[in-house]
Amino acid sequence: MSLLIRNAQVLTFDGGRIWPEADIHVADGRILAIGPGLCPETPPARVIEARGMLAMPGLINAHFHSPGNFLRGALDGLPLEVFMLYEVPPLATGVPVKRLNYVRTMLGAVEMLRQGVTSVMDDAFHIPVASAEGIDGIAEAYRDSGIRARLAIDQPNVVEYEKFPFLAELLPADIRAGMAAAPIQPAEELLELYDHLIARWDGAAEGRIGAALSCSAPQRVTLDYFRALSALSAKHDLPFNCHILETKLQRVLGEEKYGRSLVRLVHDLGVLDERMVVIHAIWIDADDIALLAASGATVAHNPVCNLRLGSGVMPFRALRDAGVPICIGTDEAVADDAINPWAALKMAGLVHTLSEVDYRSWPAAPEILHCMMTGGARALRWPDIGRLVPGARADIALLDLDSLPFTPLNDLHRQLVFCEPASAVRMTIVDGRVVFEDGRVTTVDERALRQEARALTEGYRAEFAPAIAEARRLEPYYRAMYLQAQARDVGLQRRLTR
Ligand SMILES: [Zn+2]
Repeated sequence: MSLLIRNAQVLTFDGGRIWPEADIHVADGRILAIGPGLCPETPPARVIEARGMLAMPGLINAHFHSPGNFLRGALDGLPLEVFMLYEVPPLATGVPVKRLNYVRTMLGAVEMLRQGVTSVMDDAFHIPVASAEGIDGIAEAYRDSGIRARLAIDQPNVVEYEKFPFLAELLPADIRAGMAAAPIQPAEELLELYDHLIARWDGAAEGRIGAALSCSAPQRVTLDYFRALSALSAKHDLPFNCHILETKLQRVLGEEKYGRSLVRLVHDLGVLDERMVVIHAIWIDADDIALLAASGATVAHNPVCNLRLGSGVMPFRALRDAGVPICIGTDEAVADDAINPWAALKMAGLVHTLSEVDYRSWPAAPEILHCMMTGGARALRWPDIGRLVPGARADIALLDLDSLPFTPLNDLHRQLVFCEPASAVRMTIVDGRVVFEDGRVTTVDERALRQEARALTEGYRAEFAPAIAEARRLEPYYRAMYLQAQARDVGLQRRLTR
């Protein structure tokens, strides 16, 4: 399929170049040429008149968990450690996990495509255990939706109370024993599932679907499994997702359990490298930043999620000054409930005014967009996305400049970041295929999808009730742990608290 997009303003993300008016010739999923008045030798299959439109690379959502897609608005704001107690997906009885995962994933993919998102990295967890059919359900949804996606298996494999400081001592013996007896998926089984994911899905759909690794977080897996994941990441050159120092409690955990910061722990284990995507990196100190910079790892910034869970503000400027690449994500739909990367961009443009006195340190709009595009491509280890240049993948969003977010047009970059122009997205193209136009996603019956999603979650409250009751029973112990950690002076502050 070949396309010729005519007369668009083109924001390339290639050294700041903007074409005031140019054509984009696309064939076989790639951009062949960009320039004014292109006349391809072979007539294109479709000509798209885009005068008055902005053509830009599709957005890259570099951190996401699709299993949260049915949970938008399900919870009040809670700190991560309490939040995770309640974060149990609605597994309707009798629904095959493959179908559930397919519909749930498709729902998020559709929402992203409608907003001009063309790539996502899904750090997907599985409740209670990961399975090949569950993985296939997610991957098939991404394949069928038309979006570009990398998929990881985010499956902890240690006893619950080992992931936290103080908790084992705080819990009554019967609860502790119950946690110790809960099923844990052995590392060998998880590695077999990774073999399945990589063999079946890495490079599928003409390279549009890819695998990624995930340990969830260093404290949530055994060291052997952690090292095995890192080795797989190196062997296949795949991104390795790792949540590190999202909360103050995790800083305290590092001190208590490992006698060092979790960033230094990961460095000392030899797994902090350029393939790692360090998610959140809020409660990091100067030593951590130096280690991150030396490693080449990319940090995933999820500013809406961080505010939703009260985690604090990531030291954006210190990371950037040290040369650490940053990408941007929405995290999950119960911690950034709109799956809206435009809102994440805007929040990234706002929240750092809280922690930096010198206004010259506040991130500027081009810098934030650069993080999403260049940082996103780096995090996903797909260098051919995030730019509109000949040879790059044809992942393109067309935005209507005759729309309220751009009226009047004062500054393109600032209006992209601060005016939340999702409503101006008219067309989304992934790998040279039009997947969203005329207000609808072309690859799926959206109405039927929404109906099935509602049907699958019909028993939601009934299914959710026991989980909520169990979480309420546990919350006092988690709250005590949380407060104990907050009382500790860890030598740095990432919140506006005393
Ligand atoms: Zn996450």
